[in-house]
Amino acid sequence: MGLVVQKYGGSSVADAEGIKRVAKRIVEAKQNGNQVVAVVSAMGDTTDELIDLAEQVSPMPAGRELDMLLTAGERISMALLAMAIKKLGHEAQSFTGSQAGVITDSVHNKARIIDVTPGRIKTSVDEGNIAIVAGFQGVSQDTKDITTLGRGGSDTTAVALAAALGADVCEIYTDVDGVFTADPRVVKKARKIDWISLEDMLELAASGSKVLLHRCVEYARRYDIPIHVRSSFSGLKGTWVSSEPIEQGDKQVEQAIISGVAHDTSEAKVTVVGVPDKPGEAAAIFRTISDAEINIDMIVQNVSAASTGLTDISFTLPKSEGRKAIDALEKNKGTIGFDSLRYDDQIGKISLVGAGMKTNPGVTADFFKALSDAGVNIELISTSEIRISVVTRADDVPEAVRAVHTAFGLDSDSDEAVVYGGTGR
Ligand code: ASP
Ligand code: MG
Repeated sequence: MGLVVQKYGGSSVADAEGIKRVAKRIVEAKQNGNQVVAVVSAMGDTTDELIDLAEQVSPMPAGRELDMLLTAGERISMALLAMAIKKLGHEAQSFTGSQAGVITDSVHNKARIIDVTPGRIKTSVDEGNIAIVAGFQGVSQDTKDITTLGRGGSDTTAVALAAALGADVCEIYTDVDGVFTADPRVVKKARKIDWISLEDMLELAASGSKVLLHRCVEYARRYDIPIHVRSSFSGLKGTWVSSEPIEQGDKQVEQAIISGVAHDTSEAKVTVVGVPDKPGEAAAIFRTISDAEINIDMIVQNVSAASTGLTDISFTLPKSEGRKAIDALEKNKGTIGFDSLRYDDQIGKISLVGAGMKTNPGVTADFFKALSDAGVNIELISTSEIRISVVTRADDVPEAVRAVHTAFGLDSDSDEAVVYGGTGR
């Protein structure tokens, strides 16, 4: 007998029918002889609706109260799911994040899990129940206040519980059939991946792939938890995300040279124009940015023009932090020393990811060739050992992703990728 942690996203439990369908799947896992813990997200767009409601009452709602409000979404779905399972003749108990022992730091709206003490969950499943846990929430160790883990945080709850319970597998049920070689909403010919390493998945998640959240994959890698990403709408096998390749039939699935293409249009670019080319300038700029608690992504510094001794430094950051960054830099203009700032939120990022890049020197050239054939202009470039990313105009992103996907032979020749519902979040 194994212990399985399953997670169902908001689109899987969007209405009463969805809840009943999910209840059946959970019961099946139990009938197959497993102990089952199911982590659930809020129904459909509930979280967005609650945020809208809060903003109608107060444009800048207090973090503590917003968390208290948002956790209500998952309370609704967990209780309904437990009811639906009981209706099918099985025992189920629902638990809030706090009851399930999800302990976090005290940063409201994006708390980090620091410990999981799942005693009540363990007891509940040992007594023969199916345990249903509210995703995306915990309780602060210091303040004892209720916290949330950031949008999409239920995946992280599931992996963290799987690690703490020593589960055999963490199954993440979503509205697509698994992890694809590109977002199936953009690339109709995207192919489902059978197995992907945690490293490549981490890089895809960091590059904008939305199927799994970066923090969740980080957690899975730290505790070596295999994740099975699959659809709650179909019975198909999904994608295994794990450190070791899986067996299929009697042979191992091979590591692909290229795992996939990710894109991200949530970032903006700031250019600091006319920076003196002398030691300490970059430090002053990025100290200002980090003091404002803004995370940046790419950085590019130009060669300075010999005649002026001035250079430009560009960096990318989440659009949502754009205003804050500009204000912080303007405030310190005198001490940093620069001419002006430029802000551009019409950019997009395309990333090619695959561990095979390390040993295949032609990949970079092929990537740039594909973009140039598609007539896409490149504005910034950054690389890691297993990733190449470029910034382009936001409008060019869909075409660029498709061109790169085709150039690397990733297009599937059969079925089109199916998107069953939801928003891809
Ligand atoms: N309900 C939360 C959200 O929409 C958490 C989640 O779905 O994982 O962000
Ligand atoms: Mg959701």
